[in-house]
Amino acid sequence: LTYLPPLESELLERGTSVLVPLGKRYTQGVVLGPAPVASEFKLKPIQKLADERVLLPSAYVAWAEWLSNYYMFPVGQVLESMFPPLKKQGRKRKSNRSAPVGVHAEVSTPPSLTQEQQAVLASIKAKSGFGVHLLHGVTGSGKTEVYLNLLADWRAQGKQGLLLVPEISLTPQLIDRFSARFHDEVAVLHSHLTEREKTDQWWSMVEGNRNILIGARSALFCPLANLGGIIVDEEHEPSFKQDEKLKYHARDGAVRLSQILDIPIVLGSATPSLESWHNAQSGKYHLHSMTKRVHGGELPSIEIVDLRAQYRERKETPSDLPFWLSERLYEEIGLTLERQDQVALFLNRRGLAQTAQCHGCGHVAECPNCSVTLTLHRKSHLVCHYCDYSERLVENCPTCHEFPLEALGLGTEKLENDIRELFPGARVARADRDEVQSRAELETLISDMESHKIDLLIGTQMIAKGLDFPKLNLVGLVLADVGFHWPDFRASERSFQLLTQMGGRAGRKGDGKVIVQTYDPAHPSIVYAIRNDYEGFAAQELQERRDLLYPPSWRMAMIRVQAAENALGEQVSQMVVDRAHALQNQFAELYGDNLVVLGPAEAPLHKLRGKFRYQIMVKGRESAKLRQFLKHLMGDEKWVARGAKVQVDTDPFQMM
Ligand code: ADP
Ligand code: ZN
Repeated sequence: LTYLPPLESELLERGTSVLVPLGKRYTQGVVLGPAPVASEFKLKPIQKLADERVLLPSAYVAWAEWLSNYYMFPVGQVLESMFPPLKKQGRKRKSNRSAPVGVHAEVSTPPSLTQEQQAVLASIKAKSGFGVHLLHGVTGSGKTEVYLNLLADWRAQGKQGLLLVPEISLTPQLIDRFSARFHDEVAVLHSHLTEREKTDQWWSMVEGNRNILIGARSALFCPLANLGGIIVDEEHEPSFKQDEKLKYHARDGAVRLSQILDIPIVLGSATPSLESWHNAQSGKYHLHSMTKRVHGGELPSIEIVDLRAQYRERKETPSDLPFWLSERLYEEIGLTLERQDQVALFLNRRGLAQTAQCHGCGHVAECPNCSVTLTLHRKSHLVCHYCDYSERLVENCPTCHEFPLEALGLGTEKLENDIRELFPGARVARADRDEVQSRAELETLISDMESHKIDLLIGTQMIAKGLDFPKLNLVGLVLADVGFHWPDFRASERSFQLLTQMGGRAGRKGDGKVIVQTYDPAHPSIVYAIRNDYEGFAAQELQERRDLLYPPSWRMAMIRVQAAENALGEQVSQMVVDRAHALQNQFAELYGDNLVVLGPAEAPLHKLRGKFRYQIMVKGRESAKLRQFLKHLMGDEKWVARGAKVQVDTDPFQMM
């Protein structure tokens, strides 16, 4: 929007917060600069400067404009997320909550670095200004120690540092490790803080009272004028991508911000995303590798149990064990518990059973709002994992009224029940979204694992990430196949990452064991994970992506259409595709060979929370042309008026 300056001839600086008239009221805004063209309308003046809001550094204004442009989202809303939720001068009330950053950390002296750590640090520091460093280091190779050293280096230059981590790994364990080195310099930002806490942490960084910010993806929006560098840990984690509103990827956003600020950025992972790996191969990113575990020892051995063979065997000779548990895994659980070590079992499926089905007519319990089957919980509750709809399991099949509905498949709740029967002496805990809903519950669970109040932990992938328990020596993946068949071009990559990350959980001392049960032992994700061969996996997966014109070879955007009525969704998505094809023909030289438009297709989750969903996939040889095309396409707003929602997701992660 365009306004007149408060005083004639007074040019306001870019990034200044102001109050402007909008309709009948006043609203807060940020100055983007002089209007490029003279307005035809009579302009109103900016009324008065909004007090208290800081001047946004111009780099952040430029970054907001880039985000807005790249992810096709209003710049005003991007800028809004750079301010704290509350006013600065809140009344300081006594709270029972513990402070966001604990003070119980022991002050630690840094260890002397390994050769690999020294080499990596030296080569990162050798390059001044902007540069993207991909740190590929096996689990336990000491990446975190590298981060600590980099942050210390930036602090020594009088600058601030930012460390982004996935929300789930933002635990007291992690924060303590940084507070032990940097004391009260550490601030944290994540979604579980109160608005007051967020506001206080935000100001402590912006005013320089604290100088190291550790946070989940949203911490990237804290405007730090004096940033020395950014680190993104577990850079492959899908949770860095936001799937709604501003559909940004925090890693990619961080890379762009570093470029604007002309500072280094380090992306760390044991299993880098193929996007980052591709960029390292092409020379766009600098690759640094750490291949040895600090405390020596091999990576845990991964042993495969072929469930197909087991199924055939048990047809001949029935077993007393539950169908999901192999003799091999059962035996190792027993031995590990006997040695008083800990066990973790993973299954990426919550609940008692995948669903309930009538074995007479085949009826399956489905959610009335979403096109998914309901999951059985607590023996009689059918729950939708997308919209939370629930109903009681009825005695008789609602379709044929002849037979009962029976549990089908497997969930973590069933696992827990079976394990408690098989190992009555073991202290068992379950970690999934049903059991662990708050951060406090997660922290209790972690400390119970650390203090060995738990012998056997059962969980979804939620617990496969970043946690580090010295007594955890056996990890069982109950059914590796769960992720193989998702309708998602990243399904294999995710499975490989999960297998490798899980391996990293077991036996950080070097004597851990991982047992993977699967119906598909020849799946590449498994074959390469067993060999700890990230590079081999990446090479073959990249070839496949290249052949199918998927990212990272080509770029992708997903256009999503949502409507309350199915026919409308179908009609509008067809209009979008027709228009896309027309544009491609009209500007054949620009778009002809450089773009592929696929669809419209029903989304795999066709119906979600009562809305019908369609998607159109657009693949582009290069980012700039793809974006230009999407702008062109979305600039035509014919379909918006019809009551359907049409949205673009740049570099999508959510394919369902
Ligand atoms: P990663 O982040 O790569 O999984 P960490 O940084 O957590 O690895 O290191 C694994 C373990 O080794 C941690 O317990 C850490 O404290 C320890 N460690 C890291 N670097 C050193 C070092 N140079 N000397 C001694 N111990 C180290
Ligand atoms: Zn539902």
